[in-house]
Amino acid sequence: MNKELAWILNAIEAAGETGMKEDVYWRATYTAQDAAVVELLQSYMEEGGMTVSFDAAGNLFGTISGTEAEGIMAGSHRDTVRQGGKYDGMLGILTALRAAASLYERYGRPRRTLKIAAICEEESSRFTTSNYIGSSHICGLVTEEMLQVTDDEGIPMETAMKEAGYLQEPLRRECEELSHFVELHIEQGGVLEAAQLQTGIVTSIVGLYSGEVTFTGQQNHAGTTPMYLRQDPMPVCADFICKLQAWAMQYQQELVCTVGKIVAEPGNANVIAEKVTCTFDIRSENLQRLEEAEAILQRLTEALQGTVSVALHIACQEPPVQLDADGVQTLERLATARGLSYRKMASGAGHDSQVISQHVKTNMIFVPSVSGISHNPNEYTKPADIEAGYLLLKDYLKELAWN
Ligand SMILES: [Zn+2]
Repeated sequence: MNKELAWILNAIEAAGETGMKEDVYWRATYTAQDAAVVELLQSYMEEGGMTVSFDAAGNLFGTISGTEAEGIMAGSHRDTVRQGGKYDGMLGILTALRAAASLYERYGRPRRTLKIAAICEEESSRFTTSNYIGSSHICGLVTEEMLQVTDDEGIPMETAMKEAGYLQEPLRRECEELSHFVELHIEQGGVLEAAQLQTGIVTSIVGLYSGEVTFTGQQNHAGTTPMYLRQDPMPVCADFICKLQAWAMQYQQELVCTVGKIVAEPGNANVIAEKVTCTFDIRSENLQRLEEAEAILQRLTEALQGTVSVALHIACQEPPVQLDADGVQTLERLATARGLSYRKMASGAGHDSQVISQHVKTNMIFVPSVSGISHNPNEYTKPADIEAGYLLLKDYLKELAWN
């Protein structure tokens, strides 16, 4: 087996071992699991000859200085969803790290500065209503207000950040000197595997419209409160979900719509709930459909106001984005030169690339996910496919930073 591939496979396992919270694989942001993987990645960066640094939001960087100020960033996110897998995010960091270290060893100092990034809080892994804090910070988009969101225990992000040792300096913009960002990621779907292709070259990323709807009524006794006297948020929430689903079903080829979490408070079988909160997550390549989603959410929340009050909170509103067309062409040329099979494709999942591409030329490489499984401990990519994606990433980094 190729030495570099062996290193990556070993590092995936080592990083995976830092991600266990009790018996669940979950690397939430600014936690002990996060600190453990930062320590590991930091040591890999140092072994690879990189200078290690952090920004105020907690993004970790390993830098190889070039002869020119303009820089290339490569990497992915280091957090995972609860009960996630070892490859999502981490594979993009480790392949970029290995590629940069190997190129540096072989060709010496690059022309353009190369920054390997292990980005925090991409998955809303801890703060449900906050997406892409790490990459948003890289692009200078984080505001003080955004740091006030809280986790499930009511801890504000600002407090968690400080407790983890970050936010010691003011928020700032990191991307000014970057010319390109590139991210390798697992596909998280079954398209490449079904077509028996080694890599995907991503042309666009779907837009995302997500948030929460809170239905507030009156907590009361399930036995003594007659039906006509209730202010019960639960059936109103159920009605909302059915209506949203009915709207989404009209556009099966154009969008996906998910209500993945419902919380009832206080959440007892014999108590009418005071408050029910449900999430929504709507994605599409088509901006018009996302705008329609926004209008539907507004209309539903207004129409359902009555004995129960309904509040809409938007967590994320990202338009669909096109990735850099020149980069796509270069990746196609490099894949062909290597004899790698590929297809050009849209990404159905959101990524840090989506945020960064609005400020810096950005490209993504996909590697196949076995059975299309991700956000699941059974997530897996075959070593041969990792190698194919790795070689394409390495060739691209060489072209961007050394040529
Ligand atoms: Zn991911």
